[in-house]
Amino acid sequence: MKQTTDFRYNTGASKVPWPAVGENYNVKDATEVVKFLMKGEGKKYDKIMGKISKNLNDLDKITNPPGKLSLGSEVEKAEDTVNKFLGVDNATFVMNCTSGFEIAYKYANIKPGDEVIVPAITFIATMAYPLAHGAKLVFADVDPKTLNMDPNDVEKKITAKTKMIVPVHIGGYPVDMDPIMKIAKKHKILVLEDAAHAFGAKYKGKMVGTIGDFGSYSFHEVKNITSFGEGGIVTTSIKKFGPELKRARFFGLDFTKPIKNWLYNVTAIEGKEKKFVAANYSTTEIQALGLRLQTERVKQIIAERKRAVKIVNDILKGHKGIIPQSMGNRDYVPTFHLYQLQIDPKICGGDVQVLKAKLEKKGVTNIPHFGPLYRFQVVKDMGYDPEKIAKTCPVCEEVFYKRFTHLPIYGLTDEQLVYMANAIIESVEEMKKGI
Ligand SMILES: *Cc1c(COP(=O)(O)O)cnc(C)c1O
Repeated sequence: MKQTTDFRYNTGASKVPWPAVGENYNVKDATEVVKFLMKGEGKKYDKIMGKISKNLNDLDKITNPPGKLSLGSEVEKAEDTVNKFLGVDNATFVMNCTSGFEIAYKYANIKPGDEVIVPAITFIATMAYPLAHGAKLVFADVDPKTLNMDPNDVEKKITAKTKMIVPVHIGGYPVDMDPIMKIAKKHKILVLEDAAHAFGAKYKGKMVGTIGDFGSYSFHEVKNITSFGEGGIVTTSIKKFGPELKRARFFGLDFTKPIKNWLYNVTAIEGKEKKFVAANYSTTEIQALGLRLQTERVKQIIAERKRAVKIVNDILKGHKGIIPQSMGNRDYVPTFHLYQLQIDPKICGGDVQVLKAKLEKKGVTNIPHFGPLYRFQVVKDMGYDPEKIAKTCPVCEEVFYKRFTHLPIYGLTDEQLVYMANAIIESVEEMKKGI
């Protein structure tokens, strides 16, 4: 079968096939991949690795290299697995989450003069495309509890020029999507969910990332699961555009209507208002393996993270002024990608900067993963006035500078979790006493 998205000739079982054009993997490459994934040293390691190397050399005599390395059957299998997991039919595996955003922004035909509403606190990736293409970014203030975009503030910031709203499920905690979808419908605005942290989260029974017009997930190495370092999935709920996602991933190649005497055609892709030219966001078969295997265990990973959060929360419970990570409820099922710790500065007698320093001293690394986007120089460089924007996001200013930090949560031992929770209590007690 010819891949509709693939430009390899893929001539199959002819006498002289033309499978792919580049050098494939050899046994040395394969051995190095094993060594890379399973690092170690010492006599025992060398001995086992020697056996593996010999076995791989023997295998090499009776096997073939994989043939296709990009956009092949492994990518399709990974997409099938993700489709099942999310309950969608057009999950498309792209280079990273940001590539998914780009496809959505291209579909929206984002151009200078358009306005895009993003939350004040997120990662630069959320807004890079509109910023680069001269659209005006409008920063919605955040909900003080979740740090997610506040739907009430979004509504206030809608204008006739608003083209897109981009809710970000920070830390994998679902944004309150109902009011956002309502606003979007009323004003005929597209919604792109930044679900970089939220693969597996649920909002009112729906998978997060499948509620808006577009959703994009990240499998970068720091997220809950990874497709060997980099990767993203983009999906759309726009019926007409769903089948076009794969072409949007690879230059708009169309194998169904080839030009005369040739293999394929290239066409522009129908966007919301006009056609756009696609780019290249292709992924490898090896990345796809990582995505499929880790998607198969993502539920256990989330459960393990939840267990860790509960250990910390049980210790912090009842301590005045300490506001632990929300465990969610039936309507808000998080992925526990980040542990968000907040304090009430009035009760604690100091703000989070004091707490952060105390925790560092006790050996607990803690960093607020995301800051106010409008404080980055690039926003100023593009002609925005950060001070002016800050005045429109008072909650963001308050929570970022005074109230919250993030704690490590995954991959820690129970002892480390207990130590961390106790260190928080001790630090806050010191603050209360003015030490
Ligand atoms: C990591 C991240 C992204 C970007 O993901 P990539 O896969 O690296 O492109 C987008 N938004 C948020 C909030 C993120 O943390």
